Amino acid sequence: MSPRAVQYDAIVVGGGIVGISTACVLARRGMRVLLLEQYTPAHEHGSSHGDSRMIRFDYEENVYVEMAARAFRAWEDLAKRLGRPVFRQTGICNLAPADAEVLDILETRLRDCELPFERLSGSAFTRRFPQLSLTSTSEAIYQPDSAVLYADEVVRSLWDCAREDGVDARTETEVASIEPRDDGVEVSTSNGRSWSGNYLVLATGGWTGRWLDALGIDVPLVVTRELLAYFPPAGSVPHEAGSVPREAGPVPHEAGAMPNVIDYHTADPFYCVPQVRVPGVKAGCHRTGRIVEADDPEEVDRANLAAVQDFIGRRCPHLSRDPVAVKHCLYTNSADYHFILDRHPEHDNVVLAAGFSGHGFKFGPVLGEILAARLFDEPPPVDMSLFGLERFNQPDALKPRTIA
Ligand SMILES: Cc1cc2nc3c(=O)[nH]c(=O)nc-3n(C[C@H](O)[C@H](O)[C@H](O)COP(=O)(O)OP(=O)(O)OC[C@H]3O[C@@H](n4cnc5c(N)ncnc54)[C@H](O)[C@@H]3O)c2cc1C
Repeated sequence: MSPRAVQYDAIVVGGGIVGISTACVLARRGMRVLLLEQYTPAHEHGSSHGDSRMIRFDYEENVYVEMAARAFRAWEDLAKRLGRPVFRQTGICNLAPADAEVLDILETRLRDCELPFERLSGSAFTRRFPQLSLTSTSEAIYQPDSAVLYADEVVRSLWDCAREDGVDARTETEVASIEPRDDGVEVSTSNGRSWSGNYLVLATGGWTGRWLDALGIDVPLVVTRELLAYFPPAGSVPHEAGSVPREAGPVPHEAGAMPNVIDYHTADPFYCVPQVRVPGVKAGCHRTGRIVEADDPEEVDRANLAAVQDFIGRRCPHLSRDPVAVKHCLYTNSADYHFILDRHPEHDNVVLAAGFSGHGFKFGPVLGEILAARLFDEPPPVDMSLFGLERFNQPDALKPRTIA
């Protein structure tokens, strides 16, 4: 490729939360950026759609706590730019049997990180949060700083910001081939359009497997289609589409009134997120989706839905077990559930962002900063030792994260 042919400083493939955040960071650095997305912003086929995502500090590994703190600051900056909030603080409760190790681990972590928290008995918890119910043999750790991000609004707003900042952001443009070369990268669509750039960021979520094969990277990624459902307050009055949801009962379930919840009473934790725009509390069971190819047709897993309904039945006494909506969303799982944020081993100008394993959204802007630093071989803003490709050279040494 001759230098004259290079049209962009950087090309970003994939316009979910990771790709759009990275495009924004690169544009703020004054780069000419092309962003290519096969669908439209916040479309429902990938991982970044829906009205809510949790942001929280309750991680076992330091690096994620640091990233969450940086991300909160970045989300606040975005809110200032937009002139409206992009998240609502609501706190989080981790629930488990009183003697469960997970509570001790989280308590130690929060104390070490000097984050405020309370450890509540089952009855104190139920008095404090009447939306939820816990027996006396269980306990909760409440951390007040956690919040709910307005996910799809955030993604769409970032697309607007990217365009304002000069990103050439194209929708309905599916990349069919990527050719890294010594002096740049060329990407093409199946109908013969092509673009060249000095650098490439691959942020293709559940579609990343094919590119790993094509780029000669031998790293297993397992894509699962996770089910989530929204449960309305029992006896609530159905509202018209587009109108503000109303609570009929005395117990409010909106963000701000009810905490995020992760429930470790089962080997696969259930979670719920308070009501944001859809008139119901969102709930699901972490990492229990079927293994799929990203383009496989959606199909409701009835047994999984029934398990989530049972969870709502035992934990949320004021919610109906009949969901107002059942949705799906992809997890792209790495073998240890840590992210992959690294340069291609042979092509320095290609950076890979993958394996977000069901917990990447909250870190969007920080992932953008990290990926920009990776691209230019700059010191990263956080410790990168968990996120390199090299770890997959010793698959037996990989230790999957146990805390959600
Ligand atoms: C049910 C559920 C709940 C979750 N809850 C949380 C939470 O509470 N907190 C949290 O932090 N995270 C959460 N996550 C995880 C988080 O949503 C994901 O980690 C994050 O959205 C991943 O973003 P992404 O940009 O990598 O993927 P995506 O959003 O899927 O983006 C990848 C994009 O690449 C595009 N693409 C793919 N191939 C091509 C191509 N060839 N050409 C052009 N474009 C292409 C796709 O169309 C897609 O838009 C949850 C995920 C799910 C499924």
